[in-house]
Amino acid sequence: MDRVGFIGLGKMGRPMASNLVRKGFPLVVFDVNPAPMRELEALGARAAASCAAVAAASDIVITMLPNSADVEDVLLGAGDVLARLRPGCAVMDMSTVDPLLTDRVAAAAAERGIAFVDAPVGRLASHAERGESLFMVGATSEAFARVKPLLEAMGSTIHHCGGPGTGMRTKLVNNYLAIVSCAFNAEALGLSQRFGLSLEHTLDVVHGTTATNGQLKIAWAGKVLKGDTTPGFTIDLAHKDLTLIVEAARAAGVPMPIGATALKSFAAARTQGEGAKDFSAMADILCDSAHIERPRLP
Ligand code: NAD
Repeated sequence: MDRVGFIGLGKMGRPMASNLVRKGFPLVVFDVNPAPMRELEALGARAAASCAAVAAASDIVITMLPNSADVEDVLLGAGDVLARLRPGCAVMDMSTVDPLLTDRVAAAAAERGIAFVDAPVGRLASHAERGESLFMVGATSEAFARVKPLLEAMGSTIHHCGGPGTGMRTKLVNNYLAIVSCAFNAEALGLSQRFGLSLEHTLDVVHGTTATNGQLKIAWAGKVLKGDTTPGFTIDLAHKDLTLIVEAARAAGVPMPIGATALKSFAAARTQGEGAKDFSAMADILCDSAHIERPRLP
């Protein structure tokens, strides 16, 4: 069995790594924060002293880090992970990052005879806790077959999107739709409230036409529309992902004026100190700023 290393034990990485240990994978872990390492040790994982020590003790290294700069530092920079891995090993980055960085890491790995997999994660931390995450995987068929048992231990839906880099790009397309729909749902419900319409009647109508979307129909019914704005997926993360998406679109020569405008709404929400709330709270933030009654279902 491959020895597995896991770097980055935050809101997503800690439950994902916990599921790997519980399902019997030999695991060595590292995080700059010692608290989640103690939790993983209690479950049976081994704590390493550094990223490089994880690489030296692993056949497959998984990273689940906040952003592009962290992934670059851990894999290609001071963390020294790629340089410490032996040919024949594999790296699987599960963070959400710039796809051009994904391409650079994949190329650096290939030069050293190391397999590279990008497998960013869909759904929320609560799904990761239950082992019900969704993965969008970019990998050769051989590398996909090798990491599949790990993915099955951490999630319930696995999409092999194509070769290296396609998982990350699929994630950006997915998150573009989910995040931008929060921005325009907020405006549509603000308009409905200002018009003095019944929220229930408005939702009945749009859910019966092509106007609706998954955020409005599935996610919002149990979140902001019930007055629950605890995350979920924070406005800070939505802003981080939308920034990545708009920049990746610009680099690829795809005009994205709606994305750029939505990004301004998320940036404004963060400036108002609302970044830690669930991204459905965009509805309350818009209504508060225009002195409109917040939309609520009974
Ligand atoms: P997080 O900030 O909770 O966790 C990141 C962890 O990485 C932290 O524990 C931090 O201490 C650690 N870390 C940072 N730099 C490090 C380094 N150099 N070496 C070792 N450890 C280091 O973030 P998260 O919410 O777990 O998200 C991780 C990734 O998953 C992000 O790219 C995010 O966009 C993506 N994602 C998050 C969610 C979500 O709902 N939280 C959902 C899907 C995808």
